[in-house]
Amino acid sequence: MDLSIVIPAYNEVESIRPMLQWVVDTLSSEAVSYEIIVIDDGSNDGMWDELQTVQGQFPSLKAIRFKRNYGKSAALSAGFDKAIGDVVITMDADLQDSPEEIMPIRKMILEDGFDLVSGWKKKRHDPVSKTVPTKLYNWATRFMSGIKLHDFNCGLKGYKKAVVKSIDLRGEMHRYIPVLAAKSGYKKIGEKVVKHQKRKFGTTKFGLNRFINGPLDLLTVSFITRFGKSPMHIFGFFGILLFMLGAGLFAYIGGLKLYNMYHEVYSKNIATMSSFYIALTAMIIGTLFFLAGFLGELIVRSSSRSTFEISDYIRG
Ligand code: UDP
Ligand code: MG
Repeated sequence: MDLSIVIPAYNEVESIRPMLQWVVDTLSSEAVSYEIIVIDDGSNDGMWDELQTVQGQFPSLKAIRFKRNYGKSAALSAGFDKAIGDVVITMDADLQDSPEEIMPIRKMILEDGFDLVSGWKKKRHDPVSKTVPTKLYNWATRFMSGIKLHDFNCGLKGYKKAVVKSIDLRGEMHRYIPVLAAKSGYKKIGEKVVKHQKRKFGTTKFGLNRFINGPLDLLTVSFITRFGKSPMHIFGFFGILLFMLGAGLFAYIGGLKLYNMYHEVYSKNIATMSSFYIALTAMIIGTLFFLAGFLGELIVRSSSRSTFEISDYIRG
């Protein structure tokens, strides 16, 4: 199989059939074998019925239905698990991404040797309330990851098969796939300017909370890529530092007290001194950091891949 087109879709009942038609029309003149994998991310607008209705029309269609809405990352993850194409393309289901970009992206992967090619919606058709924060977000992600992309969260991307099989999408990490890919050792990341359309049907699935979750996920991803496999390296460091500071301060005030007692000089009860409490707090927090490091290490060793529950299939 040459190509897998992975399309996560949540409540896109009006868009899904024209979307499939558009993909099929675009690829019909190309000499490639392909599959289209739609992941119905727990839609409740009748999209699954629509998919079943049209499946006869689209022999290349495969679909996965989630039992409930697990989010775009889980949907992509399920699609990636299932994909068998040498090149995997992801696209949004809402007709905002153009299937005409599929073949050029595939070409960049096959001929120029890119591991991942990310779309860049240079001319966006979204409200300002979205484009401005997006600029900031892209700047922050570039800054933290060192990857020079303009549009990290573009839904339209292409991958070598090995890349999608190796990245581990959890939470809302789909926004940072290029960062995760680079972390997995797939560092040849390219960019292609892509056409972007206004949403025709339905509404965006990410409300204002994207501006809260996005930055938090950025913190998580930069933390995970640096310390995800070894939380002790960061927590242990701060733990030891704080504990030593506290213990040092303690030794100092305790020593001073003993010295004064020995020489029968009056000195305050150390439990009335603020430095006593500072030392105590530093030692306690240091211990907590250490504990967090240990727990982190245990969790790293016992965690598994993304979770989702599938309720139905169209096997194609
Ligand atoms: N999507 C999904 N699960 C979700 C939210 C979104 O599968 O929980 C899909 C959605 O159907 C669309 C794509 O992810 O195909 C991008 O979503 P949307 O167009 O709402 O995002 P935007 O373009 O506004 O960033
Ligand atoms: Mg969209």
